[in-house]
Amino acid sequence: MKSDSVIGCLLGTAVGDALGLPYEGLSPGRARRLLGPPDRYHFIGRCGMVSDDTEHSRMVLEALLSSDSDPDRFETEFARRLKWWLLCLPAGCGLATARACLKLWLGFAPSSSGVFSAGNGPAMRSAVLGTMFEDVNVVLDFVRRSTRITHTDPKALFGAQVVALAAWLNRQQQPFDGQQFLALVERSLPSEAEELLTLLKSAGRSVQLGETTPEFAASQGMSHGVSGYVYQTVPVAIHAWLAHSDCYENAVQAVIDCGGDADTTSAIVGGIVGAGVGPNGIPAALLSSLWEWPYTVDYLTKLASDCATAVDSCQRTSNQSSRRWLMHPGVPLRNIVFLIIVLSHGFRRLLPPWWRWPNRHLRRLSSRFAQSQFTLNKPRRPAENCRDESNAQNRWIEPLTSDPRVKSPPVAGSCRVWFWLAGPGRFA
Ligand SMILES: [Mg+2]
Repeated sequence: MKSDSVIGCLLGTAVGDALGLPYEGLSPGRARRLLGPPDRYHFIGRCGMVSDDTEHSRMVLEALLSSDSDPDRFETEFARRLKWWLLCLPAGCGLATARACLKLWLGFAPSSSGVFSAGNGPAMRSAVLGTMFEDVNVVLDFVRRSTRITHTDPKALFGAQVVALAAWLNRQQQPFDGQQFLALVERSLPSEAEELLTLLKSAGRSVQLGETTPEFAASQGMSHGVSGYVYQTVPVAIHAWLAHSDCYENAVQAVIDCGGDADTTSAIVGGIVGAGVGPNGIPAALLSSLWEWPYTVDYLTKLASDCATAVDSCQRTSNQSSRRWLMHPGVPLRNIVFLIIVLSHGFRRLLPPWWRWPNRHLRRLSSRFAQSQFTLNKPRRPAENCRDESNAQNRWIEPLTSDPRVKSPPVAGSCRVWFWLAGPGRFA
């Protein structure tokens, strides 16, 4: 059902964004020591808040709704929302997006306001577009229009289109075929996207070999974290999706485990996987502990549902759905609270070395305890909502059983008991 897919995509983006946000900018090792595994929110207590990734996806749907899915009007509506979004002082905003928004305020048209950048801004908001339309060419056109408002480097466009195609395929076909996805990308993107296609093929090959997403990231030179460069973000996100397409939790945790721009990578994967599993595939506990206002989970659900209905029936949105605020007047207040929490996280990361002394000893003690009580490299407990993922490798047409490099299915996660016991987060 299309409505479920759009709702799942938007909520999946929001939950992934909130889960990954506290890990943003940290290397995998430091993230584990500081926060522990990403199996719950670590932003404010056990609650999560979203950042620009979700806000942009929400604004894309709002622009679609108020433009009646007319491409030209969509561009204008989305640009208007971006301008007001910047004025509300968002705590997280990419440099290219900020510069493009300033150009919009200076009077540039949406078609010429973009700046030359290969950041992942357009990719983080394109999954929802992949769930909205049946025709791939329409999806690609809307992604192109959404991208050029802020980014003009073709790499940013190709990355955004790949994310949209993944969400489109995940909605259209379950179970999907990884080779079919690569063929779809190859058909849809121009020859200039050859470098990205090669990276995607590497990701597919890595899934076949049973490598985990952090192992794939490390093999591509991202052992200290995934950057905001779209040719790093998108292949890693696609790897996590291909390896864990049935399981929302494992998919977003796999990509957060890679470190770096964790909120964006997790939001992208969350959106793609959410398009396939729908809202019921996203853990209810994570949805209920999303601490957001004024754009609550209920608001996002209704927005996605209204948008799916409007596009399906091609109805003009003269009803209440089109009467939304360009930006809710409570957003600046919400952003100030958000900024204070973000700054507190920043200060927490800068704490002086004195607190590492007791932590070091506690870690040693708890490590001994963990080794005596638990088996290291114990497989992660399967998530409640997940089906068996051991078939991930079987989704590929080409058999690899004769390849000597083929390993057993990935052992997701390792015993993190001592991280949990001794992580600095326990004492913050
Ligand atoms: Mg963000």
